[in-house]
Amino acid sequence: MALNDPRTYFPKVDPPKQIQEHPGLDRDLEPQADIGLETYVGHGRLEGRKALITGGDSGIGAAVAIAYAREGADVAISYLPEEQVDADRVIAAIEAAGRKALALPGDLMELEQCQHIVDETVAAFGGLDILVNNASRQIWHDGIEEISDEDFDLTMKSNIYSSYRVTKAALKHMVAGSSIIFTSSIQAYQPSDVLLDYAMTKAAMNNLSKGLAEQLAPKGIRVNSVIPGPIWTPLQPSHGQPQEKVTTFGQDTPLGRAGHPVELAGAYVFLASDEASYIAGESLGVTGGRITP
Ligand code: NAD
Ligand code: MG
Repeated sequence: MALNDPRTYFPKVDPPKQIQEHPGLDRDLEPQADIGLETYVGHGRLEGRKALITGGDSGIGAAVAIAYAREGADVAISYLPEEQVDADRVIAAIEAAGRKALALPGDLMELEQCQHIVDETVAAFGGLDILVNNASRQIWHDGIEEISDEDFDLTMKSNIYSSYRVTKAALKHMVAGSSIIFTSSIQAYQPSDVLLDYAMTKAAMNNLSKGLAEQLAPKGIRVNSVIPGPIWTPLQPSHGQPQEKVTTFGQDTPLGRAGHPVELAGAYVFLASDEASYIAGESLGVTGGRITP
C-alpha cells in the first residue's frame, strides 16, 4: 500500500477573503471543506448505536454525523434553523448509509431546546447512547473592551450552558456502555488574544469532560474531549477570525495546512467505540502537530 504524506493527503486550504453572517454555511465556504461525503469509509464500529450530535449540520459535527452513520449508528443532528440547507445534506448522507436520521433545528441557548433534542432523539431511536457536545459560537474581538456583556452572554450560553444542559438531559437515558464526547479546542490551552470569551468556554468544556468522566466512569459511561487545531469550517469566516487569519488559516501548523473536518471523524468514532473501552477523562488532540499539554 502506498504511503500518504499527511502534508498533502488532503487539499491545502488557501482561502480567498470571505465573510459570512453568523452561523455561516458549509455551502458557501470557499474552498469547500471535506466532511467525508466522498472520503469516509465505515467499518461497522458503531453498529446499532444511537447518537445525538449538536452542531451536526456542518464542519466537524457534520463529518462526525456522516462517519457515525457509515459505522452503523442512527444519528440525530441539532442545528440553528438558518442552517437547514447544510443539515439537509447531512440528513441525506445518514439515510444513504441506511441509518435513521433525525433533524433537530432550534436554538440551544434555550433550556427547553436542550431538553427537547434529547427527548426527540430518544423517541425516534428508542434510546440514546452517544452524545457529542459540539455546537459552539466563536466571534472574534480586538480586545476585552470590545466584548459586550451581551456578546459574552451569548457565547457562554451557546457553548457552556448548552453542553451542560444537553448532557444533563441525556444522562437520564444513558446506561453503561454509553459515551459522551465534548468538542473542546487547542484554544483551551493556547488562547488567542482575539478569542478570549470563546477560549474560556473551550477550557470549561474540557474541564467539564474530565470532572464528568470521574463521576460517570463508575457507572460505565465514558466521557472524553477532542481538541481540534485549525479546521476549515464555516465557524472561521463567519466572524470567527479576522480576515488576515482566515486567508492564512492553519498554514503555520507543523503540517503546514488547515485540517479538513473528515480528519477529525476517526477520533470521534474511536472515542465512542468499544476500542476506547479503557479511555475516560482524556483530551485527544487533532491539531496538525500543534502541541497540547
Ligand atoms: P461549524 O460552524 O460548522 O459548527 C458549529 C455549529 O454550532 C453550527 O453549525 C451550529 O449549528 C452550532 N451552533 C452554534 N450556536 C448554536 C446555538 N445557539 N444553537 C444551536 N446550535 C448552535 O464549525 P466547527 O468548526 O465545525 O465547530 C464545531 C466545534 O468545533 C465547535 O465546538 C468549535 O468550537 C470546535 N472547534 C473548531 C475549530 C476549528 O478550527 N474549526 C477548532 C477548535 C474547536
Ligand atoms: Mg453550521
